[in-house]
Formats: sequence, C-alpha cells, structure tokens
Amino acid sequence: MTTAAAGSPRTYQVRTYGCQMNVHDSERISGLLEQAGYVRAAEADEQPDVVVFNTCAVRENADNRLYGNLGHLRPVKDKHPGMQIAVGGCLAQKDRGDIVRKAPWVDVVFGTHNIGSLPVLLERARHNTAAEVEILESLDVFPSTLPTRRESTYAGWVSISVGCNNTCTFCIVPSLRGKEKDRRPGDILSEVRALVDEGVLEVTLLGQNVNSYGVEFGDRYAFGKLLRACGDIEGLERVRFTSPHPKDFTDDVIAAMAETPNVCHSLHMPLQSGSDEVLRAMRRSYRSEKYLGIIEKVRAAMPDAAITTDIIVGFPGETDADFEKTLDVVREARFSSAFTFQYSKRPGTPAATMDGQLPKQVVQERYERLIATVEEITWAENRKLVGETVEVLVAVGEGRKDERTGRLSGRARDGRLVHFDAGSLAGQIRPGDIVHTTVTYAAPHHLNADGEPLSHRRTRAGDAAEAGRAPRTPGVLLGLPTIGAPAAVPAPTGGCAAR
Ligand code: SF4
Repeated sequence: MTTAAAGSPRTYQVRTYGCQMNVHDSERISGLLEQAGYVRAAEADEQPDVVVFNTCAVRENADNRLYGNLGHLRPVKDKHPGMQIAVGGCLAQKDRGDIVRKAPWVDVVFGTHNIGSLPVLLERARHNTAAEVEILESLDVFPSTLPTRRESTYAGWVSISVGCNNTCTFCIVPSLRGKEKDRRPGDILSEVRALVDEGVLEVTLLGQNVNSYGVEFGDRYAFGKLLRACGDIEGLERVRFTSPHPKDFTDDVIAAMAETPNVCHSLHMPLQSGSDEVLRAMRRSYRSEKYLGIIEKVRAAMPDAAITTDIIVGFPGETDADFEKTLDVVREARFSSAFTFQYSKRPGTPAATMDGQLPKQVVQERYERLIATVEEITWAENRKLVGETVEVLVAVGEGRKDERTGRLSGRARDGRLVHFDAGSLAGQIRPGDIVHTTVTYAAPHHLNADGEPLSHRRTRAGDAAEAGRAPRTPGVLLGLPTIGAPAAVPAPTGGCAAR
C-alpha cells in the first residue's frame, strides 16, 4: 500500500506532547499507521515521510510551540516532496481549521474523537493534494479497539473510560474530550489478558476519573470490581490506575486495593488545593477534610501505601491564607511525591476569565515554598525506606544518569523510583526483569540501592525486551459495544491523568 517512490514503505514519526493519555493515544496512532503499512522512522531520520503531532492544549503557549515546530518543518517538507504532516490531539480539536489556515503546509488535521481515521485522511490528502480536516464532536470508536503499538514490553496502559462529567474550572478536558464514556469490563479485561499474554507484567488502568467508572452502565461499584477482576488474571503482577477523584472515591475501592494482591499500594489522587474556598472556585466538589479522610482510610488499610498528588498554586483568588491551607494538607497527607503546577490561564476554560488573577511573582514565591515543603516531606518519607527490601521492575529510560553511575533503574511496587547497582549480575538484568534489592540511600525524588541485589528473576517481558519485540494489541472488539463508545483520551496538566 503506502509506499514511497523507491517502492519502500513510507516512514512515520509521532511527536507527542502532554499527558499520559496522549502518550497512550500515540501508541494507537503508531499501531494504526503500522497496520496501514507504514514503518517507524529511525531516530536519526530527519525526513520521515509522515510526521504526526499529537498535541496538548493544556500547557501554556502550546499553540506557539506547535506553530513554531510546524514552521521548522516547512523547509524540510519543501525539500522532501511527498512528505506529509498531520496534527491531532487536543489542540487540533480546539483549533480545527485554523491550523491549516495558519500553516497551509499541514496535510491532515484530526481530532481527539477520530484517531482511527488518520491513515484514510493521509491517503485522501495525498490523492487530492489538499488538506483534510476531520474533527468529530463525539467518539467514533473507543480508542482501545484500535491497533496499538506498545512502547514498553513490561508495562501497558489500558483505557477504562474517556471524557469527564466534571467541570473543573481550570480544565479544558470536558470541552475537548466530551462526557465520560465507559468501556465494558469484559472488553477491558480482554485487553489486559492480551497484554499479559504478550509478557506484560504491569497494567495501568486509565481514565480521567476512574472512581466514576460505571456511571454509564449504572454500577457505582464497578471500579472496585474491576480491580478485583484484575486480581484473577494469572501472570499480571502489578495493577495501577490513574486518576481517582476524591469526590467519587468509595470505600470499596480501598478494600479492593488492599485485598487484591496484584494491585499496587500506590495512589495518585489529585488534591489541587487544600483550601475549601479555592476548591469551590475550582468547582471540585470535595473538601480538604474529605480528601484527608480518604488518605487516612487508605493508610489504615495499607500502611505501606505511597500517596502522590497534583497541586495547582496561584489559582485566581487564592489568598495567602488559602495557600497556607494547601501547605497544611501537604504536611498532613505526607505525600511520597507531588506534581506541582503554577496556575496559568488556559484559553477556553472558565478560570481564564475569573477575577483575581495573581501576579506572576506571587505565584512563583508560593510555588517555591510549596516545592520546599513537598521535598522536605517526600525526603523524610523516602528515608523511612532505607534498609528495606524493595521489588523493582526494571525499566528503560527511568535513570538519566545510569550510564554515568553504572546503575539500573526501575519502579518499586509502590511506584517509587529506584536506582540500583546490578553488582555481579551486571549485563544479565534486562528491562522487564524483576529484582529484589535493599535501599541504601534516599533522596527527595528517588531511592538508591547500592548493594548486591538479593534476587533477580528473568521474565517474559525481559525476553521480549532482549529480542527487541514490542507488544502489539490488535484492536479487535470482543463482542462489546462500539457505537458511540468512548474515544479518545482526555488530558491535562492540572487536569486528571496528567502524567
Ligand atoms: S480536572 Fe479532571 S475531573 Fe476536573 S474536569 Fe478535568 S478531567 Fe474532569
């Protein structure tokens, strides 16, 4: 099919911006293109035949950055006839036809609800030598039913829902990704099993608000049941999820986490603010007491749980007193890590036009104080683990200094980043293998384990990594509803599933 002039397959490159949802969407984009006959361009290839931008509308200046990148590609395209540029993701959903007006050398613009159309749109644009813009207002096909080229041999993302029924005033997700659509449990579990059959050990269930999962089919306990069902999948060693929402968090989820052996004792629960007034202005309908109550119950059921969060500083109208309340909650919650964001206006969100926007230096000063407080706590929490044995799932790309330090890196069951010395096993441990080792040093954002590992288990994921095989899930629908099903994944920073 899609072949370049010399008869060789056309090459593609996907450039991803934004949250984890986008990263997973990009796996689908790659899977679709490869199913259509494209091959991934080599890293160093400066002239792929197709460049796809999977954009994010959440970050500040996201549009300037996109148009800057598109501008850089223009001369490349001029020199490389037949090259095509496609723009998808949240910014495409938001700006639509404006993109081809501002950058007429773009060939395809596709929205968050119609990732599946990309190969056809590319073909049509080539055939008609004209730009194709297709933005759907609602989901066409649930994206997880699309073929997916997975980036990791040992860990996979599985969407359980897309869209969001909340209306947080800082978040663009509801307007770009639509109402929550839940995927059927049987469909989700089949995808998890397919991944495990390929050797994947860890699965992260993904939704903007996993705690409201089931709202579409009338079962408010569906998420806890889903976690328990994951516990029955043989070979699945770690189950994680992101993001929960304090408003919808129910006790049965805590019980399911505590009682299902393969569900990790880690919880990433966005706080956003510790001030009830600010939470009200954000239209987040829990209060700090409820948030801390959930944490207390989680700790009672799982004393080893690592709790992480997202916090926005400098929301319009935030006073010094409000900010102090955030610090109080941070101190009480004892997070093991926090993603902190300075509030910045996101066009199209209600908060962007609110009174009380704060001067940059006020936000900066609070932000620095927040980071100092967070680090003091995460460091103290990490120090408690010195001398403890941790199980590490060896990762790729988690340790930027590994080459220099001679260490390997991976995540402990509670999600903490561990850099470890392979000792006498150097050269034998592969990404995807499991290592037990003892923590010898703690930093605010990671642990080190510099003694001889206590054990090393070779896994099928490690075999796949060694052989250079990436898991692929075919994108078959296992007898479950396709019509109007959920589509793309929501996004953003300061929103949910941001990381
Ligand atoms: S922040 Fe999260 S819960 Fe709030 S509207 Fe955005 S996606 Fe939904």
